Amino acid sequence: MAENVTIALAGNPNSGKTTMFNALTGSRQRVGNYPGVTVERKEGSVILNGLHADVVDLPGCYSLTAYSMEELVARKVLVEERPDVVVHVMDATVLERSLYLGVQLLEMGVPVVLALNMMDETKKRGLRINAAKLSKLLGVPVVETVGRTGQGKKELLQEAINHANQRKRQWLPLELSYGPDVDHALLDMTTRINAAGLFTDRQPARWTAIKYIEGDEQVVAEGRKAAPEVSKELEAMVSKLSDHCQKTLNAYPDAIIADYRYGFISALLKQGVLERDSLRERIDITDKVDRVLTHRVFGPLIMLAVLYGMFKLTFTLGEYPMGWLEAGFGLLSDTVGNAMAEGPLRSMLVSGVIDGVGGVMGFVPLILIMFLMVSVLEDLGYMARMAYMLDRVFRIFGLHGCSVMPFVISGGIAGGCAVPGIMATRTLKSPKEKLATLLTAPFMTCGAKIPVFVLLVAAFFPENAAMTMFAITMFAWAMALLVSWALRSTLLRGESTPFVMELPPYRLPTLRGVLTHSFERTWAYIRKAGTVILAISILLWAAMTYPELPAERAAGFETMREQAVAETQTMADAEAALEERLVEIDNREAQAALRHSLAGRVGGALEPVSKLAGFDWRTNIALVGGVAAKEVIVSTLGTAYSLGEVEAEEAQPLSERLATDPQWSAITAISLIVFVLLYAPCFVTVVAMAKESSWRWAAFSTIFNTALAFAMATAIYQLGRLLS
Ligand code: GDP
Ligand code: MG
Repeated sequence: MAENVTIALAGNPNSGKTTMFNALTGSRQRVGNYPGVTVERKEGSVILNGLHADVVDLPGCYSLTAYSMEELVARKVLVEERPDVVVHVMDATVLERSLYLGVQLLEMGVPVVLALNMMDETKKRGLRINAAKLSKLLGVPVVETVGRTGQGKKELLQEAINHANQRKRQWLPLELSYGPDVDHALLDMTTRINAAGLFTDRQPARWTAIKYIEGDEQVVAEGRKAAPEVSKELEAMVSKLSDHCQKTLNAYPDAIIADYRYGFISALLKQGVLERDSLRERIDITDKVDRVLTHRVFGPLIMLAVLYGMFKLTFTLGEYPMGWLEAGFGLLSDTVGNAMAEGPLRSMLVSGVIDGVGGVMGFVPLILIMFLMVSVLEDLGYMARMAYMLDRVFRIFGLHGCSVMPFVISGGIAGGCAVPGIMATRTLKSPKEKLATLLTAPFMTCGAKIPVFVLLVAAFFPENAAMTMFAITMFAWAMALLVSWALRSTLLRGESTPFVMELPPYRLPTLRGVLTHSFERTWAYIRKAGTVILAISILLWAAMTYPELPAERAAGFETMREQAVAETQTMADAEAALEERLVEIDNREAQAALRHSLAGRVGGALEPVSKLAGFDWRTNIALVGGVAAKEVIVSTLGTAYSLGEVEAEEAQPLSERLATDPQWSAITAISLIVFVLLYAPCFVTVVAMAKESSWRWAAFSTIFNTALAFAMATAIYQLGRLLS
């Protein structure tokens, strides 16, 4: 006969564990003590209708952190004795509280079967528990029992043995999110623990990291003994996290972890697991607020209103500082231009550095305001509610509830970044859902694309700026969902996995926390403008300047100038007429020079094709540059148009230049917006994608997105021309 399955009974004190133990083992039991401590240990064996198992009754406990002797012992048995399966005996009348331990068992990864005990009491109190739903959502067997009468004990035993045989002692930890700050530290710590191999033979690295964050004295003491250096590093990471959390959220990390666990549980129960027939006993503020904010009808409406309000506010508030910055950079560009002698250095500083970087920096106020609002929503806990509501929609398109965060981070509310967005897809367990999310997240309106849209909207739809920006974001979502649906019905066909959304309790954000988060993100944007974008701007400037016009062509323009001088001498208003002619000639020369340059040639070579979508060679230069970093699109357009139209009376904002350019129209703008929204992700994103999936999929995304973008842009442009 095969070896008996060993079952450990875990549960809160008074959940009916010992009663169940007795019901199962009858007289076949031994009572002793755990070595060294005065905690009782009960062991026994079961023989029930041909089923055999060894059972150990663990001490009752509320958590698996070493807060008490009982908890310590219970955990030690799990880690050291490695039972085949843990039966978690829960007092179903207080399901929420009981699940707190259950979730921790799942987080640890041990094979778990849930026993909904005291079902008799539960029914009497008018509580209805949907065991099948709970089982589906958590992915573990759930059995209803009544310990006193032994009802359900056979099914429980059967499920436990089946589950043990199925899992074969494999630990599959449930990974909850504890919010961006803790998750981030957790990831770093897990990597460190894995690299050092600290306890990885007996417990999941992430679990060890959680225990360190929770300040579990026993785990930390053992860690110090086993690997003093590693432990020191981990403790330093924890204290850094702790400082950060206290500053920004005014809470200790272990409290945050507990909050998210409760959030997870309350969301679980809200998904139809627990319903009360009688009056609700306890309705806290979060519940009350959630009944409105996540209401089936009002919830989504409120969400749309919140999103639209954000856009409106951002653009109304952002207008002023943006204007000041634009004027400032214009002034700087004029001052430098006047102070320096004509030559490549001046051209590089004015056209490459100031116009290029200035174009990007001009959007800093906008980005800061947006990040401020995103931070408030995040800290408030409303983001999680949005995710919760969007989840229903997501399943239709073959995505998973966990896809919401990657989308939002990538710019679902506008102003994100696809790189952390792609990394956030790690929470998705199913490879196909993860791929679908990863491939469509770059469609979102990231912080780098926003300047392009703002520029074009300001130029062509100034009356409806906020509405248009809102529409662009909605369009991004629609495309992400549609493409994901298309992928999930073809290349990535497969089942969708059940999902539990985590709803943290509402928390009033602290001013300091919101400011810290937004400044951190904005600073990252500024740094990028100051380094990567500066470098790319200079490179692009060089590509747009060299090779220079051959001497004989430059001489040709010189001859034209001399002619102009001669011809205007006899005119009535000689000076003004000459001035006009000279500007005209300067423009033509600059245009010719740009066309002659490397970038101009590339842009020109692409023009026959890009014309179909309405893009001229100058736009092409910007779009090619945008593959390196999307921020570069605006700065390159700035450089291309400033190189092309030097000496206009005063420095004119780029949006005005575009609005008055005969090559441009509202249709061109829409076509370009759609193209920029959808085409190849920027280089850094592609690398991130390759890391999360494979280079093949990263290449797929580059080619597929560009083809899709071009097809859509062409369709829009051609249709628009037909209709206008
Ligand atoms: P333990 O402390 O977790 O081991 O729990 P016990 O086995 O001592 O049970 C606590 C109390 O709950 C006892 O009075 C049991 O008789 C009672 N009890 C256990 N199971 C059930 C059940 O399914 N229904 C009801 N109504 N009472 C139960
Ligand atoms: Mg007991």
